[in-house]
This record gives sequence, C-alpha cells and structure tokens, in this order.
Amino acid sequence: MEVATIEKQLLLRDVVGHKGGMLATALAQLDLACDQLRINEGIRSLLRESERELIVSIPVRMDDGSIEVFKGYRVQHSSARGPCKGGIRYHPHTNLEEVRALALLMTLKCAVVNLPLGGAKGGVQVEPRDLSERELERMTRRYAAMILPLLGGKRDIPAPDVNTGEQTMAWFMDTISMLTGDSVPEVTTGKPIPLGGSQGRVEATGRGVAIAAAEIFRRIENDTKDATVAIQGFGNVGQHAARILSNEFGCNIVAVSDISGAYYNPEGLDVQGAIEYVSRHPDNLLEGYGENAGVERITNADLLTLNVNLLIPAAIEDQITVQNADRIQAPVVVEGANGPTTFEADQILSEKGIHIVPDILANSGGVIVSYFEWVQDLQSFFWEANEVNQQLNRKMVNAFHEVWEVSEIGQISLREAAYQLGVERVAHAVTIRGIFP
Ligand code: NAD
Repeated sequence: MEVATIEKQLLLRDVVGHKGGMLATALAQLDLACDQLRINEGIRSLLRESERELIVSIPVRMDDGSIEVFKGYRVQHSSARGPCKGGIRYHPHTNLEEVRALALLMTLKCAVVNLPLGGAKGGVQVEPRDLSERELERMTRRYAAMILPLLGGKRDIPAPDVNTGEQTMAWFMDTISMLTGDSVPEVTTGKPIPLGGSQGRVEATGRGVAIAAAEIFRRIENDTKDATVAIQGFGNVGQHAARILSNEFGCNIVAVSDISGAYYNPEGLDVQGAIEYVSRHPDNLLEGYGENAGVERITNADLLTLNVNLLIPAAIEDQITVQNADRIQAPVVVEGANGPTTFEADQILSEKGIHIVPDILANSGGVIVSYFEWVQDLQSFFWEANEVNQQLNRKMVNAFHEVWEVSEIGQISLREAAYQLGVERVAHAVTIRGIFP
C-alpha cells in the first residue's frame, strides 16, 4: 500500500474513532496536508488551533418585555496573511466547535484564492425565525457591540452566512459606527450598496460555484449545456448558483430543496419561478412549490442521490456521509456549502471516481467579492458590476488552475490539492513573520 494511502487510512480511523463532525474533518484534512508537505510540527500545532476565541452571552429584551440570553461566538483562526475575514451565522445548532472549524476553513479558503486575508467566523445559537424583526435587530446590535473588541477593518471583518444577509451587515456596521464615532464601511462586507456594499456581492458565492462547475466540466471534457443539476439548499448560494448555471451556462436544474423538502422535475424546473415563489412565501421557503406544476416532492436525502450530471450541496455541513456516500450517483460534486462532505464520505466518493470541487475552492466567490468590497470601501472608489464579475472570474479560474495543477502533479484529489496550496501559503506566512519573542 502507498504511504499516502496508509496515512489517509490512519487519519480515517482517527476521525471515525472520535466524535466526527466538521472540525474533525477539517483537522484530518489539515493533518494530511501537513504530512504530505512535511510541515514543521510547531507550525502544524499552530494551524490546528485558533488564534483567538470569544464567547459572549447576549441579553435581548423581547417584544413582550422578557429577557432572553443567546450564546454568541467569534473565532479568529489566523491573521498570518492579513486581517481575519469570515461570515456570521444564526442557527440553533451553532456552537464553538462548528465556528472553530468554519474559521479554519476561512483561513485556508483565503489562502487558496490568494487573498491578503486571514480566517475567522462568528455565530449566534438562535433560530432567527422565532424572533421578530425588532428582536433580531436588538440581538444583532448587542452581539456586534459584545464582539467589537475583536473587529475592525484592519483586524477582523464579518460578512453574511447562513440566515444572515445585507440587513444584518447594515446593523453591524451602524452599531460599530455608533460606538466608535467613525464612519467605518470597511468593517463589514456584504452590506447594502448604498452603505458601501459592492456590486455583485449578493450573487458572488453562487456565481463562483457556477464558475467552478464550468471549470471542472471543461477539465473532464463535459459540457455544461443541458447538464442536469440538483441543488440542496435554496438560500443565497443555492438560488444564485441555480439562476446563473441555468441562464449563463445552459444547465438544466432538475431539483432544488430547503428545510421544507426537495422539489424535482426530471424535465427541468423554472428557476426564476422558484426564486420568485420563495421571495413571496413565509420564511422564504419552497414549501408548497410546484403543486400542480409537474413537480414531485421528494426528500432532501433523495435529492442527494439523484441520477444527475452535477450535484451541488449548498445548505449546511455533514450532508454527504458514510450513510449515503455509496449511493451518490452524480459524477461531479461542487461544494457550495462549507463542510457538506465528511472525511469518510470524501474517501468513498473519491474511490467511486467522483470529481469533487472542495468547499475552500468552490464557494470562495463570496469572500473574493467581499475582498473587492473591502478594497472599494478603503479607497471610497466603487466599481461597475461587470468589472467585479470579470475580476471574480479571473481569480476563480486562476485558483482552479493552480489547484488542478497541484492535483495532477501529485496525483491527489482536488480537496487534497486545495488543502496543500492553502496550508503551504499560510505556513510560509507564519514562517517568514517569525514567532516573537
Ligand atoms: P442561507 O441561509 O441563505 O440558505 C441556506 C439554505 O439551506 C436555505 O434554503 C435553508 O432552508 C437550507 N437548509 C438549511 N438546512 C438544511 C437542511 N438540513 N437540509 C436542506 N436544506 C437546508 O445560507 P447561504 O448563505 O446560502 O449558505 C449556505 C451554505 O453556503 C453554508 O454552508 C454557508 O456556510 C456556505 N457559504 C455561504 C456563503 C455566502 O456568501 N452566503 C459563502 C461561502 C459559503
């Protein structure tokens, strides 16, 4: 057996033997890259840990006058290559371990696409649908105030993630402005355009996913035209990926889903109709979509194993696992979500010959345009939409090319190649900065 295979199997045993989950998966991939690159033990230990972690208890006065307390987190994984960058999510299952994993992925993502940024992530353990708009605003402002010591355009710059969006970032920026007395558009990205947001940011992650899909199809000599696509998750990433793949790359989106279920039409869905449906319906859900329109309601589990040309998990982590990996039929998986495939499932898909474009490359479009937004805010000079999209395309295609080259030369998967590229760049930055004193 080859050394690399033995290493992978030992890591696999470690992951399975422990609790599993996104942090275990990310650390196992990190360890594999460190082994392959023969990274110094001290630097490996540093990369396995977060640089700084803050846990806050956020008191919120509810509309009925009572007080509820929510747990919030902000984790900075590494500032070796620049200010920390990473989204904020609101989710009932958010916890410190998940936020740690997501912060580590952000460090590697920024390095893979060669941005001068480090990695961070934040989150609040809350079901935002249970809060009124006013309660959500009060919680967001209090959370922003409580993690303010870590934030700043030269320190740590939040962005939207699951269940957060432009409005969340506007409240964040305004709270920081109120507390510091400075106008600080560069302190968050993903803001509304009138507050210093960038053209193209809202759709950037989905656009990047579409570009990554087109690149992998080109490499394996397939055409995106008429390719059938199933997308799990119909929020920011899923909706824009569906729209752009359908309108600009000629794909046929046959299934989409959200927490209400999955919706399938083998002939193809009307993507624009689905987006409009969601925007008109409570909690932006697909619930009830397609009744009487030839659309079959299936489960999220069924969607993942459909016989399609391209599968895009764009919901949350740990969706492709040992339970379903051997039933995945799509020959190409492009990871819109962070950490949708567990370490064990990744090995199974690879053994089946499935091409996986990993999260730290596939969904980097969001942070790339966040970087452009930060640059525009610092310069108070704003770009046209076509310039943003051209620069995004250039960065994604270059990064894809670099990852592809590493994978071809080393005869390793795209995920291993992306981790190698990211880990090497971060380790190099740590080394040349030096450890003081
Ligand atoms: P979102 O909140 O806008 O949408 C999430 C979607 O997933 C919703 O349709 C929701 O109903 C669905 N969903 C949630 N849990 C589900 C489940 N268990 N089964 C099926 N569907 C489920 O979030 P988003 O911003 O689109 O983020 C989606 C993923 O992409 C996350 O993993 C996020 O970290 C990642 N991501 C987002 C961005 C960004 O710019 N928004 C950037 C990079 C990565």
